[in-house]
Amino acid sequence: MSDTDTLDTFRAETRAWLEQNCPSEMRRPMSSEDDVCWGGRHAKFTSEAQRIWLRRMAERGWTVPTWPREYGGGGLTLDEAKVLAQQMRALNCRSPLASFGIWMLGPALLKFGSEAQKRQHMPKIARGEIRWCQGYSEPNAGSDLAALATRAEDRGDHFIVNGQKIWTSYADKADWIFCLVRTDSAAKKHTGISFVLFDMATKGVSTKPIALISGKSPFCETFFVNVRVEKHNLVGTAGGGWDVAKYLLTHEREMIGGIGDRVAAKPLGRQAADKLGVDAQGRLDDPMLRARIAEFEVDEAAFRLLMERFGELAKARQAHGAFSSALKYYGAELNKRRQELTMSFGGSAALEWEGAASHDGATARTWLRSKANSIEGGTSEVRLNVIAKRILELPGV
Ligand SMILES: Cc1cc2nc3c(=O)[nH]c(=O)nc-3n(C[C@H](O)[C@H](O)[C@H](O)COP(=O)(O)OP(=O)(O)OC[C@H]3O[C@@H](n4cnc5c(N)ncnc54)[C@H](O)[C@@H]3O)c2cc1C
Repeated sequence: MSDTDTLDTFRAETRAWLEQNCPSEMRRPMSSEDDVCWGGRHAKFTSEAQRIWLRRMAERGWTVPTWPREYGGGGLTLDEAKVLAQQMRALNCRSPLASFGIWMLGPALLKFGSEAQKRQHMPKIARGEIRWCQGYSEPNAGSDLAALATRAEDRGDHFIVNGQKIWTSYADKADWIFCLVRTDSAAKKHTGISFVLFDMATKGVSTKPIALISGKSPFCETFFVNVRVEKHNLVGTAGGGWDVAKYLLTHEREMIGGIGDRVAAKPLGRQAADKLGVDAQGRLDDPMLRARIAEFEVDEAAFRLLMERFGELAKARQAHGAFSSALKYYGAELNKRRQELTMSFGGSAALEWEGAASHDGATARTWLRSKANSIEGGTSEVRLNVIAKRILELPGV
């Protein structure tokens, strides 16, 4: 059989399996971010259908389709994974699991982790059993991340960690943290940093949620007082954490770049037409808004193609190392535009803050939350600097 025949067979089998196994409730667009399934030790499922969908997908390794089977993945090729994503989109299947373990830690472990670390952590990530958070930013280390000051003292077979992180998304709900610590304060800024993993239930770890403009508190200040971290939880080498951190950030930026794609499955023009109605020719009955939405949808389609192209280049190992900054920048701007447009056609109802009819103000809260897209994972200003310097190679940047 040719490669095309094999892929066609895979497409047909995948479609049949999804049709049979994805509960109808999991084929409806999410009404808010609260519908996202994050898994974890204390996972709260919004419905039985959500729990079943996660279990079925995890059993096939399709929560992480391209990860190797021995680490809980589906062992799919990139082409097969693309087919799976296309079929899921065609059938409106929701993503079964959202996870910093999938988007960030897993790829870093595959590249830098020991065999024991991969076997300990990756299958639990794939099955949604352990929820991870990211301990990078500190009060004086955000864009200038290498200025981080959280210390890890070497005590032979373990480290003792002291310090503070900030903006740690879902730290109060996470089971484990991947964390940047300074193991050598005499070394140069970037070389004294190490990448460690530890359980958030370890003695000396505490979190304090920070309220956002959206009225929610999805992230926290995170404090470490004499936290014991066993040496086998060091990823890569002591002092070599910056390489792990940078690699992981490229995955975080690609993930944030694709954010609009994941959360709102229904095309914006369709949503607007449902709300405002259509004219005699079946077009959205507001020419100004129609033009803005059309422009948005063209840009969104072009961005999706760009993401695909990036995937192909990455597969051929020809992707520019800094391109994740471009994806992150544009994806964040697109999602902010999407939310602005949603508010435009939502009318005053979209501003509702509470009550069952508005899903507790989901539209307004999602709009306000989107403002942070151009800060999280590295700010837009800094991304533009990176694009100017490393991709466009502009002089004097
Ligand atoms: C919703 C959200 C979730 C987050 N989740 C996490 C998380 O889970 N874990 C984690 O570790 N961190 C997290 N962060 C933190 C995020 O990574 C930082 O906020 C980000 O890196 C910026 O750092 P800062 O806030 O210290 O801002 P600063 O670095 O102090 O920047 C302040 C302003 O100065 C500008 N600026 C800084 N340097 C330059 C420069 N060289 N050139 C031009 N302009 C510059 C910035 O663009 C920005 O506008 C999250 C942030 C948000 C908003």
